[in-house]
Amino acid sequence: MITPIDVGYLGVMGAANAFLVRGPQGHVLVECGPAACFDTLVAGLRAHACAPTDIGDLLLTHIHLDHAGGAGHLAAQGARVHVHPFGKPHLVDPAKLIASSRRVHGGAYDRFYGDLLPVPQHSIVEARDGARITAGGLRWRALHTPGHAHHHVVWMLEHEAERHAFMGDLAGILVPESRHIAVPTPPPEFDPQAWRTSLGRVFTEGPSHLWLTHGGCVAKHPRDVEAFLHRALARLAETTEWLQDAVKRADAEVVPEGLARERTLAAEDGVNDRRMREFIDEAFVRMNLGGARRAFLPRD
Ligand SMILES: [Zn+2]
Repeated sequence: MITPIDVGYLGVMGAANAFLVRGPQGHVLVECGPAACFDTLVAGLRAHACAPTDIGDLLLTHIHLDHAGGAGHLAAQGARVHVHPFGKPHLVDPAKLIASSRRVHGGAYDRFYGDLLPVPQHSIVEARDGARITAGGLRWRALHTPGHAHHHVVWMLEHEAERHAFMGDLAGILVPESRHIAVPTPPPEFDPQAWRTSLGRVFTEGPSHLWLTHGGCVAKHPRDVEAFLHRALARLAETTEWLQDAVKRADAEVVPEGLARERTLAAEDGVNDRRMREFIDEAFVRMNLGGARRAFLPRD
């Protein structure tokens, strides 16, 4: 019923997924990857006998461009786009979103994120906390789960005895071929307290399956889901602890320290050299420090 489509984010296979969900009454897509990867997404859909015009509903966990950049392209093919109300204005007018992503990603922006199309107002359905929808003939529920981003939602899909949680970035990034969870804390809305509370809500839901946009299906049994969520909580705690101290010091000192620290932890979790270069790099550390400064330092 659920097929991960690798969108080839950053030119890396295994970096980000969209999820094609076939229901009794149609096709649903959870996430869509960046606009720059739209052709890869379409090829992936076609490989599973699905055309972009077959997607009736696109469910977004949040509007960061690696999850939602292609939303305007899918809306142009007729998809309804479901997003938290806090994210809606930035899909309708993506100018601010583009500017903030350019600040975070610098020169890499054009290569990796591509040309966004605005999503028309009438194509957007607001997904408030607890919202229940039927899409593809399946029952879905939105959980507002701030922490990584203020407008983040987890999508719960209940099907027969299964309870699938589409986590977006809430349980971090699972580096392929390893057990390492990296925790992305980008500006401007990283909030560790809210993040912990949001993970607690997912625990309470008792999912049977956990789907990570960056990682795919990481658990297929409630016992494994619990174990994964505990590890994600622990990684969030240790990442936050280091960041809280690091933001008080100069970049020249903390960027190399943070990179060495992340790489040591990743190596302990079995990350190989290639994946280390692809996933745990200086840009990742700088992004996390940027989010932590907004969260922990007083602003003038
Ligand atoms: Zn994100």
